[in-house]
Amino acid sequence: MIAVAEKQTHQVPTKLYQRLSSKERSKRIMKWIRFRDKKLRQKFGFLKHQDALGLAITLGSAAGMILFGSLYIAGIIPAWTCIVANGVLASILHEVEHDLIHNLYYKDNLKVQNFMFWTVWIFRGNTVSPWYRRMIHTLHHKVSGHKEDIEERLIGNGMRFGLKRFITMLDGNMSFLFQAHILRREAPKFKRSEITRSSWPYLVIFYHLWYNFLFINLFYIGNELLGKPVEVPAWLDSIRHFLNIAAVVYTIPNWIRQTSIQIVSSNMHYYGDVKGLYDQTQVLNRWFLFPLHLFCFNFGSTHGIHHFVVNQPFYLRQAVAPFVHPAMKRYGIRFNDFGSIFRGNRLGNQDALLA
Ligand SMILES: [Zn+2]
Ligand SMILES: [Zn+2]
Repeated sequence: MIAVAEKQTHQVPTKLYQRLSSKERSKRIMKWIRFRDKKLRQKFGFLKHQDALGLAITLGSAAGMILFGSLYIAGIIPAWTCIVANGVLASILHEVEHDLIHNLYYKDNLKVQNFMFWTVWIFRGNTVSPWYRRMIHTLHHKVSGHKEDIEERLIGNGMRFGLKRFITMLDGNMSFLFQAHILRREAPKFKRSEITRSSWPYLVIFYHLWYNFLFINLFYIGNELLGKPVEVPAWLDSIRHFLNIAAVVYTIPNWIRQTSIQIVSSNMHYYGDVKGLYDQTQVLNRWFLFPLHLFCFNFGSTHGIHHFVVNQPFYLRQAVAPFVHPAMKRYGIRFNDFGSIFRGNRLGNQDALLA
């Protein structure tokens, strides 16, 4: 492998981008993104009301979640419709939170901005406080692909392929168990107490609803299969009823949403041999990723664009993507490099780097 790698570096550049430094390639990609962004803003005048748009999307998505929840409780729509609809709406709120972290809405009116932060947190309880996330996400942009990148390492980015990596991507608590002691050593900004504090109250409430839902239903199913050796008290029935409703309306949609974004994000960022902005991300946009992308607003396809230009609201990032992707490809950004999953997200050979 090493011989092959050396051979590749000594090859005569055949493509235009190979004659440019990675800094220059990044600059040119940024130019394409900004060019398209400007054109769209000129064409669609309403885009200049960015603050109001952000607030309307927040209130609309939150109201949508309440509406679908009510329709399910009233017996008008089936559980799966509510789960899918609320998962998609919550994923839009996740994008709004990310935009708020980058100060894209109401930067001069912190009252409204904080109101929006609270709203997006309440409706997607399985995340740390958005104010704490602002710190780790800003850090992510500075140190993406390095040991200090708390946000991505907490969802398994850079770990070897295997069961431990898989569990880390799926479950925030298990990830904390596996990664906290390593991060404490390697990432100076990582403080366990800060994460614990920033989980209160919504993450704590969410996990109570979620794990109780899982355990109670497991108990009921087990009891049923064994021929009901335990007589279930009526009060447990009502608790189960409440938790099952909460699951359809709130916890399952958010679990699916968070898991989708964690799997995609954990694999579309490179780790370990990242030398600069140009190396930080790839583009994941194959059709079979649709079920995951449905619940994370096409993250794998567009988050790379965000690394190059951070001050774009999520809907504009999506809107420029069809125009910008060919340019990214031309300048050598990798597309659908699924092999990175088996290389611990290294750009190059994992064995040389994971030793
Ligand atoms: Zn990123
Ligand atoms: Zn960001």
